[in-house]
Amino acid sequence: MTSSMPTTKDSTDLLALYTDPDTCPTDQLEAVPLAEESAFVAWQQEIPRSYLSLSTEELDFRIRRSRLRLGDRLVILGHHYQRDEVFKYADYTGDSFKLAQHAAAQKDTEFVLFCGVHFMAESADILTSSDVAVLLPNMAAGCSMADMARPADVFSAWAEINNVLGNQHGTIPITYMNSAASLKAFVGENNGIVCTSSNASQTFEYAFDRGEKVFFFPDQHLGRNTAFDMGISLDEMVLWKRGKPFGGLTRDDLEHAKVILWEGHCSTHQRFSTEQIAEARSKYENVNIIVHPECSWDVVQAADSNGSTEKIITTVNEAPSGSVWGIGTEINLVRRLADANPDKDVFCLDPVVCPCSTMYRIHPAYIAWVLESLEQGKIINQVIVDQKTRDWSMLALERMLQLN
Ligand code: SF4
Repeated sequence: MTSSMPTTKDSTDLLALYTDPDTCPTDQLEAVPLAEESAFVAWQQEIPRSYLSLSTEELDFRIRRSRLRLGDRLVILGHHYQRDEVFKYADYTGDSFKLAQHAAAQKDTEFVLFCGVHFMAESADILTSSDVAVLLPNMAAGCSMADMARPADVFSAWAEINNVLGNQHGTIPITYMNSAASLKAFVGENNGIVCTSSNASQTFEYAFDRGEKVFFFPDQHLGRNTAFDMGISLDEMVLWKRGKPFGGLTRDDLEHAKVILWEGHCSTHQRFSTEQIAEARSKYENVNIIVHPECSWDVVQAADSNGSTEKIITTVNEAPSGSVWGIGTEINLVRRLADANPDKDVFCLDPVVCPCSTMYRIHPAYIAWVLESLEQGKIINQVIVDQKTRDWSMLALERMLQLN
């Protein structure tokens, strides 16, 4: 690889690579200077050129120096799916739910640097006071699942559903944390609630205490797996297909459904398959399979257990020495879990090790850029949710936080 900027042809080739399910342009997980990272071409490029060629060591020195200079004015939050070179700077780590709790607890700081993706930084901005600025190192770190639920599409689906069902059935909207702030506000305004993979079943109970039906977005798999675990059969669930008139459903479908699922998914967790589980079982007689509930229903059914990122971590950490774990979730997390449990055999079910490509957009160069700008009195990459959206979202998030 060279240190020159990628060309337009590189860009086309790399974007094609991203759509190929059998390869992964981020298989090389060790951080290199930003300009050498193969997927950089598709990311935010406003970063000053001087940061592009800095080595990992130089960046590490400059980030640590900035942190010392900023002191208590700065708190860094890091999601479990971040690469090691970013994760190591976090004051607090967690999945999206735990990080939301950490964000809400930040009262005495000026800046929260959120090493996660955009929807998480929005939630942090909603949960912190207006004196705290929430910054995302790279504004292009989005979430492919969140992008599958465009607010305008969800609003029009909701209008069509209510048009058919009226108020008699009391449909309650639930949005997964992995969604735009405007969707969180929408559920807040419509008696709904936000959920994470840690508390999805509690939010379904919350909804069924208040209505007969649930409209769940954006992750169809989390919605289906949660409802199924609660005893709702697959034929009581319908899928609202994006871009189809009336979601591809009929009035009859809607009237008979208990759960209306949005057609969204996580590109990282959708890679796991029942074939991979069968392969792991054929290789290791006593393997325990645990997967994230963003995996498809058949994968969750073929696994021994499923749970949020935090549940996977706790389960493996507390497992007996010598046990074998095949895991269906993001590779950076699985690698750290394997390192932390050398007395157990811990491996990722997916042989093509592909991290969450949007989390991967947080490179140490962006952290150095944002922190050094703060030192110079310049706030960059601040995530700001407008007041009205903030108020309604807060209501939906508080309903969720009160469940735990
Ligand atoms: S792992 Fe999936 S749901 Fe999570 S941020 Fe990445 S794309 Fe989004």
